[in-house]
Amino acid sequence: MKRINRRHFLCSGAMFFCSAMPSYASWSFNGGDAGSGPADIRGKVFKGDAPKKIWKWSCEGRYYKRILNDKTVCGLCPNKCVLSPGDRAVCRGRINAGGKLYSLVYGNPCAANVDPIEKKPLFHFKPGTSAFSIATTGCNFRCLNCQNWEISQAKPHEVRHTELFPPDVVRAAVRSKSSSVAYTYSEATVFFEYMMDTARLAKEKGISNLWISNGYINKEPLLELCSVLDGANVNLKSFSDDIYRKLNGGRLEPVLNTFKTLHERNVHFEITNLVVPGYVDDEEMVKKMCGWILKNLGPDYPLHFSRFAPKYKLDRLPFTPVSTLTRFRKLAMKEGIHYVYLGNVSNHEGNHTYCHKCGKILIERKGYFINRDNLEGDSCRFCKTVIPGVWS
Ligand code: SF4
Repeated sequence: MKRINRRHFLCSGAMFFCSAMPSYASWSFNGGDAGSGPADIRGKVFKGDAPKKIWKWSCEGRYYKRILNDKTVCGLCPNKCVLSPGDRAVCRGRINAGGKLYSLVYGNPCAANVDPIEKKPLFHFKPGTSAFSIATTGCNFRCLNCQNWEISQAKPHEVRHTELFPPDVVRAAVRSKSSSVAYTYSEATVFFEYMMDTARLAKEKGISNLWISNGYINKEPLLELCSVLDGANVNLKSFSDDIYRKLNGGRLEPVLNTFKTLHERNVHFEITNLVVPGYVDDEEMVKKMCGWILKNLGPDYPLHFSRFAPKYKLDRLPFTPVSTLTRFRKLAMKEGIHYVYLGNVSNHEGNHTYCHKCGKILIERKGYFINRDNLEGDSCRFCKTVIPGVWS
């Protein structure tokens, strides 16, 4: 795959507009503020930091409004960035140029790989298949423990990129025999236009679309996304608004709303909770989280407790003890969640899928590989219980 140095294009001022990207005239901006507390680490707009000219991989954003003095208000996520001409948004890949909002990462991923679908993690979606996985730079969060901070907390010109427009992504997915395209690694919401155009083409070719996200997105764009989405893994970073503020720079409620919308739209999704020592390792919080899931979504969405590894600004914290994860898994099952897994822990009983009725192993996993498969269609081979998920 040809590598392209973005700085070169910045300097040469390449200008190629993505004219097929209409702005969303009908989107209504509510104004208001997501609120902030003393420990809120949420990102800020980069004043006057936009490149002087837009480049080949720019396209006009969707879901924005133009207000007084050529300012723009982005409606993609609850950050609702207000940008003056020349400003760069919180997520770093969107700018105001001349009173219009542009994404700078269209067709220009900084990561493109073929991954096992189990890596997303998705355990109830076409197990054993591959997902062609792409990401651009940028994120609307500021997680202190980000595992991919080199790309999520970077501006587009700071990282090496590959040119891969939507038809190229779909061709690459077909060539690599991937049954899905996954929008992943950083935060797919911030490359919404690129994701949507790719997802529509993928769908036409019978390829599934997977959204791996922090779930921090507004309802209107999410509804549009749901029309092309086959599966998702959404991170529920904690069940505390306070921790969302001080660990992630976000808010809890919009994420909960995302789960409700996915549920209403019948999109298959799985939930990941990264257990960060000292922040997200509270048993009472796990109980509350399970209670909310059961009440609002039911017992059947898979829940993954994932092991924290020291990284980025929390590189002095220890790994999550496996005993904590094991305890949380048992607790969540006791509360009534049917499918509870452990992530980033190998050779653990929490890696496998068990029938919630008869308790027999349905899918045995070793790392990202499937050792044993006891599903018959979508049912347990032993007691014939239907197992929720997308299996073929
Ligand atoms: S998607 Fe980016 S530009 Fe839009 S509101 Fe969120 S952080 Fe701001």
